[in-house]
Amino acid sequence: MASSMTIGYLNGEFADLASLRIPVLDRGFLFGDAVYEVIPVYQGRPFRSEFHYQRLQRSLAQIHMDAVLDREHWDSLVHDLIERNGGGSMAVYLQISRGAESVRNHLIPKGLAPTVFGMTAALKSRSPEVLERGLQVITREDTRWDRCDIKSTSLLANILLYSEAHEQHAQECLLHREGQLTEGSSSSVFVVRNGRIYAPPYGPEILPGTTRDLVAELCEANGTPVRVGPIDMQELADADEIWLASATRELLPVTRVDGHAVGDGHPGPLWRAIDTRFQEYKQESAND
Ligand code: PLP
Repeated sequence: MASSMTIGYLNGEFADLASLRIPVLDRGFLFGDAVYEVIPVYQGRPFRSEFHYQRLQRSLAQIHMDAVLDREHWDSLVHDLIERNGGGSMAVYLQISRGAESVRNHLIPKGLAPTVFGMTAALKSRSPEVLERGLQVITREDTRWDRCDIKSTSLLANILLYSEAHEQHAQECLLHREGQLTEGSSSSVFVVRNGRIYAPPYGPEILPGTTRDLVAELCEANGTPVRVGPIDMQELADADEIWLASATRELLPVTRVDGHAVGDGHPGPLWRAIDTRFQEYKQESAND
């Protein structure tokens, strides 16, 4: 009997993750020619999955791949993965590569059968210590490519930056390009100053975040709408609050940037207000 979170999906087959195999000439393996999604699941129910399918569809279109499955089929695959892995809270990972060829070839081939892969992972609950003390981050030049709006598996720059943050005893690396804040290596970012909430504009340098979009809705409902526009590094340094958002981390406060305290060095009141709304929303959608 397989233990929890070990059942994966590959091209129509569910099996123990350790037994699933892809050909070495898969373009995802050779070139990172693949896109992915991570969908949080609470109490056995995928959270805002329609936005993940939309973004997946967009990522595929941007790399000139056709829709692999329609929404109904993604839904059924995701539900199967959840059930086979024991239900409850988890993250579902979906990856689609362009497929395997008989040679290594830079040119995008026509008519290749895509490789569709899915698995689940444990969703760590947010530690009381992080909620109480906040996160530490470092800042670095954004060394990624110019199409960060595609949720591509080519994450070499992201993992180097994220690992550098951890070497510095920080939990995320905030990135900047030509002096403007873009996002975290694996999260969206918000900056609060004088009671106003700011976020960098979407564009090719930033992944459109599903959690950021939900947080923006919650801020609007709270009467404190997010102002979208360029944020320079001085504005980051002068922030009263900084928040990180991602599907697996939800909304977290940052209390130290490059060793300096953010505001008074504690998670701020606006974060508390919006995070409370976030938790309520999550609860409501799980009970729906
Ligand atoms: N930006 C980057 C680079 C990410 O990797 C992620 C999530 O993994 C996000 C933003 C946040 O996106 P989402 O809220 O959809 O998880």
